[in-house]
Amino acid sequence: MAARPDVVVLGAGVSGLSTGIRLVESGARVLVRTAAPPAHTTSALAGAMVGPNLSPPGDPQRAWTDETLRVLGAEPLPGVAWRDGTLAARPEGATPSFADQTPGFRSLGDDERPAGFGTAFTVRLPLVDMPVYLAYLLERFRDAGGEVRVAPVASLDEAATSAPVVVNCAGLAARTLTGDTGLHPVRGPRIVVRNPGLDRFFMEAPMAPTWASIFPHGDHVVLGGGQRRSDDTTPDPAEEADVLARCVAIEPALAAAEVLEHRVGLRPGRAVPRVEAERRGDALVVHNYGHAGNGVMLSWGCARDAAALALGPAPAA
Ligand SMILES: Cc1cc2nc3c(=O)[nH]c(=O)nc-3n(C[C@H](O)[C@H](O)[C@H](O)COP(=O)(O)OP(=O)(O)OC[C@H]3O[C@@H](n4cnc5c(N)ncnc54)[C@H](O)[C@@H]3O)c2cc1C
Repeated sequence: MAARPDVVVLGAGVSGLSTGIRLVESGARVLVRTAAPPAHTTSALAGAMVGPNLSPPGDPQRAWTDETLRVLGAEPLPGVAWRDGTLAARPEGATPSFADQTPGFRSLGDDERPAGFGTAFTVRLPLVDMPVYLAYLLERFRDAGGEVRVAPVASLDEAATSAPVVVNCAGLAARTLTGDTGLHPVRGPRIVVRNPGLDRFFMEAPMAPTWASIFPHGDHVVLGGGQRRSDDTTPDPAEEADVLARCVAIEPALAAAEVLEHRVGLRPGRAVPRVEAERRGDALVVHNYGHAGNGVMLSWGCARDAAALALGPAPAA
């Protein structure tokens, strides 16, 4: 990038790249500075399911999710496939509010529910194969003129020496950059197996520290289901066996599936995502972090709002 950028975005996960795209496609000169390339972010470890939108009207998370669903439904995108699947919970009568507004919603009867589940319904949602999708976002950002540098910043003040506007999409690392004590790591496993022929997804409501999630992506299936406040990213063989057992109980065809990968990610846990602007000296800093287990689902909505804060009000016509 020959000229000084208008905006420096910190982070090349789903938040940073989506926000970078919104900015660069609005005509801004945008530099992304990241500690790691997209394939080595938390975002690359997500399952990832988008929706259902269970937030009440008026909650910003509802509008953010709607925007992501709109973008993912507007045209075919690499790594994104709309699939039918089952959402289930152990207790009876646990269908959440607004679930029935999801495309393809149908409540499952007693003879259709998996054993041990009192509530289950089928829906149609986007499943995102994150490594493929992040590669697409990176290419789209670069094609529009954006630049990515693996060059982490030590502080927001240092970032502000790169550009007059800083957009902080550093995920969990925003803890160090901002001192936000409300941000904490929520550990979760990603176990990838060869696909024995599944095309429907399954997701158990994460009401307990462990659950079952089964997300097929063509030749492989991403299994998961665990949340624990910890910053330990060491894969745990006992946890792998537990996830496999819970998923096999739902889909017996997974019993013989070869395990291809087991990695652990740290979700950027926070009561609510932080999408807001603040002044730091002469610089405008826009925060877009703390999306917990929903960063993919919220990505395009938060990117839209963060980009609007970074660019300021549109000039009067
Ligand atoms: C196992 C698992 C399953 C998940 N499943 C889902 C799902 O199904 N649906 C869903 O919506 N979400 C899911 N999530 C949550 C989702 O992955 C996160 O909410 C999302 O990835 C957060 O994205 P991000 O871009 O904000 O952060 P990250 O992906 O963590 O990116 C942060 C970026 O900041 C960079 N960075 C760090 N420090 C600095 C620095 N000092 N200077 C510059 N850059 C820096 C990093 O290198 C990285 O590029 C899941 C998460 C896990 C772990």
